[in-house]
Amino acid sequence: MLLKDKRAIVTGGSRGIGKAIVLDFAKNGCSVVFTYANSVEAAKELEGESEKYGVKILGIKADASLFSEAEKTVKFALENLGGLDILVNNAGITKDNLVLRMSEDDFDKVIAANLKSVFNYTKFAFKAMMAQRYGKIINIASVVGIIGNPGQVNYVASKAGVIGLTKSAAKEFAARNVNVNAVAPGFIATDMSDKMTDQQKEAILSQVPLKKAGAAEDIANTVTFLASGLSDYITGQVISVDGGMAM
Ligand code: NAP
Repeated sequence: MLLKDKRAIVTGGSRGIGKAIVLDFAKNGCSVVFTYANSVEAAKELEGESEKYGVKILGIKADASLFSEAEKTVKFALENLGGLDILVNNAGITKDNLVLRMSEDDFDKVIAANLKSVFNYTKFAFKAMMAQRYGKIINIASVVGIIGNPGQVNYVASKAGVIGLTKSAAKEFAARNVNVNAVAPGFIATDMSDKMTDQQKEAILSQVPLKKAGAAEDIANTVTFLASGLSDYITGQVISVDGGMAM
């Protein structure tokens, strides 16, 4: 077990990539507080997996874009898990459109949910981690934050911002033995990617050298590695898990 007795927060854990991370952490002996925006039923179901793995799995409804809710979640985790070793900033949304058609609100909402959220959680989690001189922060970026994508300036800007935040925080926190890394997924089969038209999916798949979509578990495997002692000498890096899309 790579994460035995560790304690983690995973934002956006009710579905997709976040859920796969929560389950992989639990399988590896780590207790988890996960957040979600609306999926109360899915969250309850995931909490029910706790007994199977012999760890705590606790869901909390908390909007990641709100500073006060991040503070509340970190406090909840510290009280219920007894400390915090790992933070995964995974919550994210898309509101795609061409620049000329994109509303100011859709730009602002995506930046708040995908980028400001990472600042919110990083600030409160680091406070707990610096005192114990140990921590792992893993931010879920995206391949498009590296290579760009038409129709997604809000999303791409948020993910490029996450990459910059990751590198700066890694430099800032290194002296406290807190590692900060990002994972940049490519085309992964989840509800988020399912919103695309068949034509859009085909266009993306044609850019994937491995010629297939990834699974949420492919991302979880890399996140667990970055959360574990196997990655102690890695910080400030962006690891692409994208079938070779960005190289
Ligand atoms: P998803 O299936 O749409 O799931 C999103 C998760 O985030 C859900 O648990 C959702 O909660 C939660 N969430 C959304 N907004 C939130 C908020 N404001 N506060 C708290 N939780 C919130 O998405 P996914 O595909 O798993 O994506 C996970 C991460 O990977 C995102 O950061 C995404 O940008 C990134 N990513 C995905 C892909 C891909 O191809 N799928 C590629 C690159 C990067 P509810 O269930 O309550 O709505």
